[in-house]
Amino acid sequence: MGTLNKKTIRDLDIKGKKILLRCDFNVPMDEEGNITDDTRIRAAIPTIEYILDNGGSVILMSHLGRPKGEPNPKYSLKLVVKRIEQLIGKGIKFADDNLVISDATKNLAKELKQGEILLLQNMRFRKEEEENDENFSKELASLGDIYVNDAFGTSHRAHTSTVGVAAFLPSAMGFLIEKELKIMGETLETPERPFIVILGGAKVSDKIGIIENLIDKVDAIIIGGGMAYTFLKSKGYEIGQSLLEEDKINLAAGLLEKAEEKDLEFLLPIDVVVAKEFAPNSEHRTVDTDSIPKTMMGMDIGEKTVELFVGKIKNAKTIIWNGPVGVFEMPVFAKGTEEIARAMANSKAVTIVGGGDSAAAVEKFGFTDKMVHVSTGGGASLELLEGRVLPGVEALENR
Ligand code: AMP
Repeated sequence: MGTLNKKTIRDLDIKGKKILLRCDFNVPMDEEGNITDDTRIRAAIPTIEYILDNGGSVILMSHLGRPKGEPNPKYSLKLVVKRIEQLIGKGIKFADDNLVISDATKNLAKELKQGEILLLQNMRFRKEEEENDENFSKELASLGDIYVNDAFGTSHRAHTSTVGVAAFLPSAMGFLIEKELKIMGETLETPERPFIVILGGAKVSDKIGIIENLIDKVDAIIIGGGMAYTFLKSKGYEIGQSLLEEDKINLAAGLLEKAEEKDLEFLLPIDVVVAKEFAPNSEHRTVDTDSIPKTMMGMDIGEKTVELFVGKIKNAKTIIWNGPVGVFEMPVFAKGTEEIARAMANSKAVTIVGGGDSAAAVEKFGFTDKMVHVSTGGGASLELLEGRVLPGVEALENR
């Protein structure tokens, strides 16, 4: 997984130094700009505290939302200042700067004293951020002495503040990235068996890389969610109006064949909850997978499938889950996802939940604390499961 050869913050002498710390403060907010889930901010605190405890000062950088390279008050990091202050227990400075690094901000950075914290404005207010621009990287690097990346949720992106800046300063990863890489790396390399993976979500295309990487590592692959229907179609089932990726039918058939050759269990839903429309109040009922009406669409796994999948979860020693098994945002189609989450929460296995929608589902049903690990990064944890090296880690200094 490429973690062992990369420096961590413990390898650096940070006393009296200004640490440019890339965090992921891209937190969900309501319409009024109130933070609805501060998990990602909390996850950054240990690294911030370590820097302060060891005599450094901190220049925080992050993005928030998708301002598309322009200043936009809706995505100002001012919205997270108070929460950071509450969690860290002290005041921080905020460089409210539409250019992110104007002379005024350079001065704030220059004058920053040991033990102080300065938060820069949303990196994505500048289009150069997503372009991984060399000059912008240099300018950013000029603010501090050391670069530390702890933005796991953005480490799969090669941007200025996650990759470019690392070329111009001594660099290392923070505790959050270290933890995320360690748990995923160890689990994939030396899992306790049986080792199963549960995949869901909307699209097969998003999960092909994971299946291809894990097919040689796991003892069973369990598929739910919208992606199951392309597999069912490839086996000749009528799937009605359910989600289908026509151009992935052959690929799905190939994966099923490969699993069979390997004698690997590859479980698909045996019954599903079908609805007339993609709507929370739609008329719905449960049918066996071989009886999906032409006019209806699969929205959740049925009770028999829940029983089948939960049985596998109960016997497993390692479980990785990525992607909801139904349209869990609509309460009537959330049951399957809730039951998978509950079974994992009750299991004594090593339970790992990939970020994004599955983490949101686990949080919604109140099981987050019952899992061994819930990743803070959706796209990034997907890429780890695909066996890829994250650009934001690759860019850091070797030991
Ligand atoms: P992903 O981002 O690929 O993990 O997909 C998550 C989304 O998949 C969620 O918003 C779910 O509502 C959706 N989803 C899960 N099951 C289904 C289904 N049977 N039909 C349509 N969408 C689904």
